Amino acid sequence: MPDIIQLLPDNIANQIAAGEVIQRPGSAVKELLENAVDAGATEIKLVVNDAGKALVQVIDNGRGMSETDARMSFERHATSKISNIEDLFRIKTMGFRGEALASIAAVAQVELKSKKEGETTGTYIEIDNSVVKKQELIAMEKGTSIAMKNLFFNVPARRNFLKSNPSELRNIVDEFIRVAMSFPDIFFSLTSNGQQVFHLERGSLKQRIVQLLGNNYTARLVSVQEHSDYMNIYGFVGKPDTAKKTRGDQYFFVNNRFIKSAYLNHAVMGAFDSMIAKDSYPMYALFIDLDPAQLDINVHPTKQEIKFEDEKIVYAFVQSAVKHSLAQFSISPTLDFELDSSIQNLDAVSQPFTDERKSSAASSSLYNTFSQKNQAHFIENKSELKHWRDFYEPVSKEQQTISVDQGQHSNAAASTNIAESLYAEKHRQIQEDTPLQQMHFTYILAQNDAGFLVIHQQNAHERILYERFIKALDGKPIAIQQSLFPQTMELAAQDVVLLNELLPDLQYLGYHLEPFGNNTFVIQGTPSDVAQGNEKTAIEKMLEQYKHFSNDLKYSKREKLLRSLAWQQAIKAGKALTQKEMRSLVQDLFICASPNITPNGKPTYTAFKKNELDRMFGR
Ligand code: ADP
Ligand code: MG
Repeated sequence: MPDIIQLLPDNIANQIAAGEVIQRPGSAVKELLENAVDAGATEIKLVVNDAGKALVQVIDNGRGMSETDARMSFERHATSKISNIEDLFRIKTMGFRGEALASIAAVAQVELKSKKEGETTGTYIEIDNSVVKKQELIAMEKGTSIAMKNLFFNVPARRNFLKSNPSELRNIVDEFIRVAMSFPDIFFSLTSNGQQVFHLERGSLKQRIVQLLGNNYTARLVSVQEHSDYMNIYGFVGKPDTAKKTRGDQYFFVNNRFIKSAYLNHAVMGAFDSMIAKDSYPMYALFIDLDPAQLDINVHPTKQEIKFEDEKIVYAFVQSAVKHSLAQFSISPTLDFELDSSIQNLDAVSQPFTDERKSSAASSSLYNTFSQKNQAHFIENKSELKHWRDFYEPVSKEQQTISVDQGQHSNAAASTNIAESLYAEKHRQIQEDTPLQQMHFTYILAQNDAGFLVIHQQNAHERILYERFIKALDGKPIAIQQSLFPQTMELAAQDVVLLNELLPDLQYLGYHLEPFGNNTFVIQGTPSDVAQGNEKTAIEKMLEQYKHFSNDLKYSKREKLLRSLAWQQAIKAGKALTQKEMRSLVQDLFICASPNITPNGKPTYTAFKKNELDRMFGR
């Protein structure tokens, strides 16, 4: 019997290996952009034709390659980024496996031009199917241009598997955004079929996010920033009202590398809990930096999934950092004037680790909680809960007015409510003896020790009613005021079906209605807040709103009913209120579980802090 095992020829071995790294044009985009970043470029241009199927080209002004390096770079396992196994655990660059260029060259036609700084000539190399077709010297500027043409021209089976142009282009844009977002101090552009799609000047992270994700995020980003010895986190989350119904603008970067992590996503979603509607997705772009030794980035060929040495710490840290920022935003949305984009130029978000910041962070208790490396496990230990709570303790003088009710929470799970109780607690201290002031029949000014609040009467009342209704359905029915002269109402056939469905819940919510045959109902009683004589309109309006919500499939029937009723019954902007009405509105608001937003995510109040006002006036 002859021996049957043989070594695969290089180009076939490369093609097989390429399958892991280069699956579609977007994969090449990612690898080429990352190489340009690793080369220290300050300007990176991406050009694609035919959704990358015909051409993916990346042009950079980075350090370039010598003639030998240029040739070497296409060999499998050719890399300048690691030289021994220890390096693998210290990896700071984007690439390290030395597979990308070899893979690209195995499945496409490649043209490389590169010149190192200080050398007189550059190198031009043409490769087809892993074979060098041409190599010559050329004149060019410092930097590198790599063009990948006709992807999978030699692997028709894979070419047939490419998706439609819009779908491949979308993937290219996704990859482009992920790299461009993590390097706001690099200029990036993207040109598709001769049209410039992105032109991203260098700037702050915040500006880059707005450039990439759209102007609707201007002034609607909340900064996240926490430091510790174990890890740092910085970046932005969208204010709750920017949450979208589709998952999308959500980005995690670990050591500046985009990663996917359902686990960390869960941590962020938990921090937003109850501030946004269920099934809506908040924007976030969060950068986590930690010692590469605490990570394994090698678990996935395209390096998008990583393993943390200690996932639980990272989870807890991310969640509390986001909560902390959201809590601060709720206390003081006005801080935003400091985040104005013109002032943002000065913002050090792009260089978050200055010594000054480090030392100010070092004095925070959050920092200390995580300072002892690997000892942060104690946050899981109930007896050490105090450290967990330290997350919410003041990090600077200005915030020292915040007090947390330490007695209330007896286990770590309860900490989910700390952020909420934290600001509710604070605002409950509205000064009882200072009169409230209504402005434009819409806003109530209320003084507290830290400054004053501007409360939107309609939004606030919607929140109050909504929570009251939840309790009602939970077994504390709202008192029904029996009508002295029961009205009858006639409805269209489809509304009759609808109302019949809602009758049992409505009873709990204070509406006593009885079917009376022939599409007619008798209104026997309504909640005491509904003025006598207005019962009919109230119910009609509620039904109208309910039907409006009906297009929104994400809400349950009950949820839609609650929201419709809260919306319908809330006092409206433009209504004059007495001192007593304002007082009870404000009091009711701050005993709510989520006093800061309406059920639909609009803010209910804005806080102005005296010390910030003083600062604005140079005091
Ligand atoms: P890796 O990035 O993992 O090292 P690649 O196959 O992507 O592997 O690249 C191989 C090598 O080619 C890199 O290590 C680098 O030295 C060089 N290289 C690739 N692209 C560039 C570039 N745009 N500018 C300078 N050097 C580059
Ligand atoms: Mg690379």
